[in-house]
Amino acid sequence: MSPADFSSLKLNTELLNNLKTLGYNAMTDIQAEALPAILDAKDVIAQGQTGSGKTAAFALGLLQKLDLKRFCIQSLVLCPTRELAEQVAKEIRKLGRGIQNIKVLTLCGGVPMGPQTASLEHGAHIIVATPGRIEDHLRKANLNLENLNMLVLDEADRMLDMGFQDALDAIIEQLPANRQTLLFSATFPEQIQSIAARIMHQPLTIQVLSTHDSNSILQHVYKVGEDVDRLTAVRLLLMRYNPQSVVVFCTTKRETQEVADELRRYGFSALALNGDLDQKDRDQTLTRFMNHSISVLVATDVAARGLDVDALDMVINYHFAHDNEVHVHRIGRTGRAGNSGMACTLYDEKEQYKLESLQNYLGQRLSSEALPSFDVLDQPIYIPPMTTLRIDGGKKQKLRPGDILGALTRDNGIAGDQVGKIQLAANWAYVAVNRELADKALTLLTDGKLKGRRFRVRRI
Ligand code: AMP
Repeated sequence: MSPADFSSLKLNTELLNNLKTLGYNAMTDIQAEALPAILDAKDVIAQGQTGSGKTAAFALGLLQKLDLKRFCIQSLVLCPTRELAEQVAKEIRKLGRGIQNIKVLTLCGGVPMGPQTASLEHGAHIIVATPGRIEDHLRKANLNLENLNMLVLDEADRMLDMGFQDALDAIIEQLPANRQTLLFSATFPEQIQSIAARIMHQPLTIQVLSTHDSNSILQHVYKVGEDVDRLTAVRLLLMRYNPQSVVVFCTTKRETQEVADELRRYGFSALALNGDLDQKDRDQTLTRFMNHSISVLVATDVAARGLDVDALDMVINYHFAHDNEVHVHRIGRTGRAGNSGMACTLYDEKEQYKLESLQNYLGQRLSSEALPSFDVLDQPIYIPPMTTLRIDGGKKQKLRPGDILGALTRDNGIAGDQVGKIQLAANWAYVAVNRELADKALTLLTDGKLKGRRFRVRRI
């Protein structure tokens, strides 16, 4: 038994067996450092980024602590976004699979309160939520948190960035003082330290700086300005490397829109992801990116939180991030799960000092490289392999992924392996299909029936 073996922990057998089935053979660094303290009921502050295994670190802690005989809310996990909350809930359910009858409920904004209130009446053990919505439920006295013994703040820095400080204060005020509190954050600005000091009890602080060995992410820096402007530099990099999935990080919402519009004008399959999108457009953009219908996502740091794409081939920083930790967080989105990743950063004369600061921070030398030659612009532009169809029917109409797959593949329709991700929301569904078969798929779905009914279907 090595020290990083889960069986060295005080975890119950169901959890341990399930970890084996899931192929979680060894603890990640953050798990190895945080879990012993978490399982010892200590308060823990951990610096963990997406990809570090932070979710399992707190999920195993709260699952182990759960007393199933008491059907009441025992744990609350607060996340900055709905996407992150959904991922966290999914991971908790996955890790808790070996334990019977665990009820995990997500409560996020952007959807009606009514169904959530009804679910709350049926009770739950674990709530994963965004702060604003919890505040709403508390105000309406829908939530009884008096038996809560575990609070997790996930991506705490992002919650503060999004202005959730007051909501967090209001929520925490209503929680039992005698609880365990875990705080996860990628960065530690002053505000986080002051929250931690106020709401935590002798916390243990754990720092796991990089989630990757730096060799797995190739970092390139390119100076722009005199000969080549930033947008042309992005085009050259995209044409040279043809990434299937790439995020271009910009500083402002407006810049994301401008860059995405320009890239589209040149024929790239690009969309902007920023805080100006409403929830529906945001979901749609993320869906299309994740199912490989678009290849370039132009995003702000805030909009990209919670973005969980395992196979991001490339990250392009349109400018240096405003701080080195944010830079490391951005580039950590590529090169996950042992894949090699590529991070390209553009900077100009005025940002030279940021390059120096990053090199000191990383203890690594980064020399500016020449951009790809303009010849690459003559080649054909990469076209993503899939297209997304939107069906105006979803879970409420009792549609299941199997119904959609069935309609596409029956009677010599299209082959199952030409159908990509199927995602169901309450009143609509998205299905990715091979781009070349999109018209056929559209006809199959429009003419054929789903659950005995016809639904409007269109290509987006
Ligand atoms: P996270 O940093 O929580 O977003 O986790 C990143 C990914 O790693 C998730 O897909 C987890 O399911 C996976 N993961 C977490 N811990 C382990 C582990 N010990 N072994 C293998 N995979 C893990």
